[in-house]
Amino acid sequence: MGEKTTVYVGVGSNLGPREKCIDAAVTELRANPRIRVVAVSRVIETEPVGGPPGQGLYLNAAAQIETDLEPVALLGALKRIERLIGRREGPRWGPRPIDLDILLFGPTVLETPELTLPHPRLRERRFVLKPLSEIAPDVRDPVTGLSVRELLAQLDKKA
Ligand code: ADP
Ligand code: MG
Repeated sequence: MGEKTTVYVGVGSNLGPREKCIDAAVTELRANPRIRVVAVSRVIETEPVGGPPGQGLYLNAAAQIETDLEPVALLGALKRIERLIGRREGPRWGPRPIDLDILLFGPTVLETPELTLPHPRLRERRFVLKPLSEIAPDVRDPVTGLSVRELLAQLDKKA
């Protein structure tokens, strides 16, 4: 691999064999020669946020990877894995066997129609920050300068 970036990926599932879908997604990440999986958090169960009513509970985890892929190429690789594991086009925030999001891509800040970095809803989603805080409590959000631990504490204060 060439120049490598440390990236945090969010993994979620609320449809079908959820645990298996999360395992399969991590296996696919490991199978990509351009990606090295450094750490994976435990899996937590969470209530769905937004989206259509009546969705099942989510399982969520976070992974730390290293990659020499550019952000858009990594997003393409993640979408390919989502398709492989059976995600079909559906309503935004609707049920899905697997959801792979780029949470943090090193210190990169990016805003394009297809990709926003850090992930636009990172700071308000407890189900993302909680697993992330397990593997990266001191990593900082390049926009606010706050660590993952501080973002989580900020959210707890608001609740
Ligand atoms: P969500 O992940 O918020 O539940 P979706 O999985 O339906 O919603 O994502 C919709 C689109 O969001 C994706 O097709 C992708 O192009 C875009 N997107 C923007 N920023 C990111 C990011 N950081 N990680 C993943 N997808 C992103
Ligand atoms: Mg997504």
